[in-house]
Amino acid sequence: MFTSARLKLTAWYLLIIMIISGLFSLAVYRSLTLEISRGMRQQALRYMPFPSLIELDEEIFFQARRRVIVDLVMINSGILVISGIAAYFLAGRTLQPIENMVEDQKRFIADASHELRTPLTAMKTEIEVALRGKNLDIKDAKSLLHSNLEEVNKMQSLSNYLLTLNRYQDSQTRLPTEKIDLHEVIVKAVEGIRPLATTKHISIEDQSKITPITGNFVSLVELITLLLDNAVKYSHLNSRIIVSTSKDPRNAVIVVQDFGIGIKAGDIPYIFNRFYRADSSRSKSHEDGYGLGLSIAKNIVNLHRGQISVSSTPGEGSAFTVKLPLHLTY
Ligand code: ADP
Repeated sequence: MFTSARLKLTAWYLLIIMIISGLFSLAVYRSLTLEISRGMRQQALRYMPFPSLIELDEEIFFQARRRVIVDLVMINSGILVISGIAAYFLAGRTLQPIENMVEDQKRFIADASHELRTPLTAMKTEIEVALRGKNLDIKDAKSLLHSNLEEVNKMQSLSNYLLTLNRYQDSQTRLPTEKIDLHEVIVKAVEGIRPLATTKHISIEDQSKITPITGNFVSLVELITLLLDNAVKYSHLNSRIIVSTSKDPRNAVIVVQDFGIGIKAGDIPYIFNRFYRADSSRSKSHEDGYGLGLSIAKNIVNLHRGQISVSSTPGEGSAFTVKLPLHLTY
């Protein structure tokens, strides 16, 4: 598909270049022939007493005109070849980002469909098995519905992740921003995640200080919630999580630290990619996630012109650091 688009674009580039070159050659041809014939007329006046010399000049004029035509044809052929190569190269460069985007979309659709297929297949199999059984009693039916509900919840969670990802996907999006306090953002996120942490007896220590920045309150709450959610998910029972803030001359710095399973050095470069899950997390059940949280987090940070990084030691824990400019200017 992209090869034919590239060829078509090359042809268009070439057509434009050749039209310009053709018009330019016509103008050159016209002005040169006018110049030569003006010179001829002056010569004719000078050689009036010798008509044979005038005929000679006319011959020279025709030869000169032919040479101009041959030169212009050769120059235009050269332009055609050189600009053909250049146009093909430029067309490739023009289409490259579009090709990358289409590839990226294709991969995304394939990954999303794959993730949706897993709970759907599980539901379908359970329903088929139940229907095949002769004596399905109310207890079995309830257990089937219970299991189906779990799968539906997973699909709902996946579609929520996909919608959120879509919301923050476009790097050109400008989030509505205002003066906000990062401490309030963290308080709100901690409040939301605390019930989940309590189920694992995990304590969350909020060591954040009042830190005014320019940003989007709702999306930053989502960002901290995602990091806290992971911290809880990948921490052991009775563990603790620390959220702190600090400042450097240009940025506000937020650190979400846990003392959980940690991340292997080999996984770190990929964890912000869509649908990437480290093996240790993959081996857990799918209800734990889809590998979309950190890529949403990264998109939110990017939209705030900030940076996100992680330092982690397997078996000891991870610390996610988010740097956000104190004054966001688009
Ligand atoms: P998931 O839904 O799998 O948690 P994320 O995009 O949020 O997806 O994270 C990607 C992967 O990064 C996770 O599968 C996990 O392997 C790793 N990860 C993220 N946060 C942590 C953490 N706090 N501790 C250990 N591993 C983590």
